[in-house]
Order: sequence, then structure tokens, then C-alpha cells
Amino acid sequence: MDTVVEINACAPEGMGRDELRKAVEDAFEAMARVDRLMNARAEGSDIWRVNRAAGSGSWISVDEWTFRVIKRALFFARLSSGAFDPTILPLMELWGFGTKPHVPRQEEIGKAKRLVDWTAVDLDESNFSVRLNRPGMGLDLGAIAKGFAVDRAFEALKRSGVTRAIVNAGGNVYALGKRPDGGKWKVGVRDPDEPGTYVTVMRLEEQTAVTSGDYERYFEDGGKRYHHIIDPASGYPADSDIRSVTVILPRTREAQSDIGLVPNASMDADALSTMLFILGKEKALKFADENGIGLIIVDARRGISASKWAPEIFPSEHVSTGDGKQR
Ligand code: AMP
Ligand code: MG
Repeated sequence: MDTVVEINACAPEGMGRDELRKAVEDAFEAMARVDRLMNARAEGSDIWRVNRAAGSGSWISVDEWTFRVIKRALFFARLSSGAFDPTILPLMELWGFGTKPHVPRQEEIGKAKRLVDWTAVDLDESNFSVRLNRPGMGLDLGAIAKGFAVDRAFEALKRSGVTRAIVNAGGNVYALGKRPDGGKWKVGVRDPDEPGTYVTVMRLEEQTAVTSGDYERYFEDGGKRYHHIIDPASGYPADSDIRSVTVILPRTREAQSDIGLVPNASMDADALSTMLFILGKEKALKFADENGIGLIIVDARRGISASKWAPEIFPSEHVSTGDGKQR
């Protein structure tokens, strides 16, 4: 997944060191499995096989996990009328993210853009098979798979009996229970321009928070910055007034509207953070207010806005560790 994953876990009473280590290893293994299945660039992965068969008419059978993530990605594509589109791969490749970043020529962008079409993905639920309808198409689950991986890590930790932990996978955080001292976990919202520093801090308990930011992957050319969240309508990096958007989903179904979000699912928060980045600040805040979603946005002028349902935020002076949280 191209990111550093960190898990801090505390042993509950009665759990030995080895048992805790095993629990954390299981959580890492679940995340590694997600990467092995869904990394578009890893030869032999589910997504690599689906992409290779694009346009051939063949159905490719995939793991149940992969199927679930693709299906969910298509849900967000529909929800956003294609602003979120998991068939973004041709544009990602063209811009060279992951290989050699550069600004493509206009006609190349036009050509790649026509291959980005979430309505041309066929799913067969009866045997977890997938098919892309046109040659050259490709899935890229980079906007959602990390969230799914964090959900699987969380599940593994819980299954092992761990009740206090924090999982941090490059902007996707899951705070399990409380800190050892009984307080909530402190999770920083990163300063878009200064790695290792934070513009504000949230306190989370049994909650996931996922951030999409223009600083995660970008290159500069002619004094202009090109980041990795692509607007499928233009084929260019989304011209958003957002530098970063952090999504915190409600913990219960009652707390949100019925558009079908899964409470506290990191996968959903991940897809939403990317989707809302593309929509821009005003639409993102409106969407969040209407649907019971917590949002913290850092905008182009470095201003901070929070939606109605966002957790309380605090000044960041006291955040000292370089990894997005304080213990
Ligand atoms: P995130 O960091 O979760 O916001 O995801 C960014 C990643 O999502 C990029 O590196 C691409 O792999 C992928 N991506 C870029 N643009 C889009 C888009 N419009 N819809 C879905 N995925 C995208
Ligand atoms: Mg995302």
C-alpha cells in the first residue's frame, strides 16, 4: 500500500507479551494480505489479473475481500456520480504516479479519460467474479483499500482480545478503546506543508479517522503542484480548495442519514475522504452536515473548518511525536 503502518497496542489484563505480539502480528498480516490481493502493480494480485483481462470478455474470479472492496468502491462511484471512480488507473499511470511523475499531453489525457468509467465494471456476486468491459481499463483501489485494511487490522486485534490500540496507516487511523491511562487517543491533523507537525488535534475513542491530503503524493513542474487525487471529469489533479480532509464517521446507524454508510467503517471513511476532496470545501461540508459525518478540512489558505458532527478539536501545541499521535 506504499505506506508505513504503525500499530500500538496494550495488553489487557491477563494477556502475556507473546500473546500481544501474536495479536499485532495477525493484524499486520491481515493488512499485508489486503495489499497482496489489491495492489494493482503487484504481478499476480487479484486486481492485476482483473486489469490484465480488461476487454477480453473473461470473468476473473477474485478473493471475497477483493470483491467486497470493488463493490463498495462502485457504491461510492454511484453516490458521487463518478467523482470517485475506482477505474482511475489509466489516468494514474499516465500521470506517472508510482513510476515517473510528469504532466502528460492534452490528447493523452483525453484518451486515458475515456477509459475511466465505473459503469463498465461487471460484478458477479454468485462466484465473486469481476470483468472490465474495455481493453486498457484498469482498477486502482488506492482510495479505499487502505481503509479496508485498517478495518481488518482492527478486527484481528479485537478477535485476539485486545481492547486498547491504535492503528495508523498513513492517514488512516483506528483508535480502539481508550489509552492505557484512560484518556482518549489524541490524533493530530497533519500540517499540509510541514511533515511531523499538526494544525489541530482530535480526541478519539473507538473511532476511525481518515485523511486525504494533497501532500501524500505529488510532484512539481514549472512551479505548479500536481497531486494524486484525480478528477475523472477533467483528467487533471482535482482543482480543489481543500488541502486535506479528515472524515470521522458516526459510531451508530442512528447518528447518520440513510444513504447506506457503515458506521465507523474505515473503508467508507477512506472512500469518502477522497470523494469529498474532489467535491471541494463547500459541497463537502454540506454533504457532511446533511449526513451526520464528522469532517475537518484544512483549506488552501490553511484555514480549518469543521462540519457540525466533527469531534471537538484542540490546539496542537502539545503534540510532540512525529507520527500523528501522542501517547
Ligand atoms: P486517498 O489518499 O485515500 O485520498 O487516495 C488517493 C488514491 O486514490 C490515489 O493515489 C489513487 O490511487 C486513487 N485515486 C485518485 N483519484 C481517484 C478518484 N477520482 N477516484 C478514486 N480513486 C482515486
Ligand atoms: Mg481515500
